[in-house]
Amino acid sequence: MENIYDVIIIGGGPAGVSAALYAVRGGLATAIIHSGSSALHRAERIENYYGSGALSGADLYDRGIEQARALGVAVIDGQATFAQTDGEVFTVSATVGEYKAKRLVVATGAARKTVDIAGLKDYEGKGVSYCAVCDAFFYRKKRVGVIGAGEFAEHEYSAIKNVAGATFLLTDGETPSFTADNVATDRIARVIGRDGRVGGVAFEDGTELELDGLFVAVGVLGSGAIAKSIGAFTDVNGAIITDEKGMTNVAGLYAAGDCTVGVKQVGKAVADGMTVGIALINDLKRGGKK
Ligand SMILES: Cc1cc2nc3c(=O)[nH]c(=O)nc-3n(C[C@H](O)[C@H](O)[C@H](O)COP(=O)(O)OP(=O)(O)OC[C@H]3O[C@@H](n4cnc5c(N)ncnc54)[C@H](O)[C@@H]3O)c2cc1C
Repeated sequence: MENIYDVIIIGGGPAGVSAALYAVRGGLATAIIHSGSSALHRAERIENYYGSGALSGADLYDRGIEQARALGVAVIDGQATFAQTDGEVFTVSATVGEYKAKRLVVATGAARKTVDIAGLKDYEGKGVSYCAVCDAFFYRKKRVGVIGAGEFAEHEYSAIKNVAGATFLLTDGETPSFTADNVATDRIARVIGRDGRVGGVAFEDGTELELDGLFVAVGVLGSGAIAKSIGAFTDVNGAIITDEKGMTNVAGLYAAGDCTVGVKQVGKAVADGMTVGIALINDLKRGGKK
């Protein structure tokens, strides 16, 4: 038997699950395909989302998936590799099979750009962060380095400077595009650890800088490749462009959360998912065809 749904949602993070909760409760046969790895898995704690207390990002993710499953959403563990539409039906190819639906939602998140510095990955979630609005609060009165030199670094640097004790812009060999109080332009050789967390950085000239936290601020990449391959418009960063209902320029193709234009936060992803879920009910229950 073919795997046919009213709605397939690619992505099981806050955006995809929120869309699924509304869709399934609105009577739509709904499936989520998710590869299991979300931005949430890199978030040590989520403190700024309503009701989350000090939940870890991974726990919040698992709760979302279980909530969707309990309400009757078909949760498919696998990676979507390709999607296409004949104008009526969407076909999604995944590592675990092929699935069809009347509507497709892309909620695949975004990738934070990173830099290749020895030790950086080892300390992700242990002092290395990619999001000032998420994590700057944890570094009140502490010493923080911001790696980057462009517009995104400027945004993150000024957000962190408001709360940290001392903030250092580390351009790793680049020329900064803005003025900052403490700037080191030397190339960074490696991240130094202290008690299992970030303790500082060592530069290629052998000098060291003591730090409590390190923010990577070289940009964000939308992960809208699947939507783009079907013809969805994206902005210069690859973020999918939608209307106020979360619909892309391709009829029947919706998008929500970090993969779309705008702030990358759980609250926005949940709101996007809700908007798309309600739009799907109106769309499909109003006569079905695109
Ligand atoms: C270090 C860090 C700390 C953060 N801290 C906070 C915070 O404190 N507060 C806050 O509000 N936000 C925080 N965020 C941001 C927050 O995690 C995101 O805004 C939120 O998770 C976005 O939800 P989403 O559903 O759009 O995407 P994601 O949560 O990234 O989910 C994407 C989903 O798509 C799936 N996927 C992607 N590609 C495929 C594919 N090809 N096939 C199948 N599945 C696929 C993934 O498996 C996942 O299920 C933080 C992010 C980071 C990186």
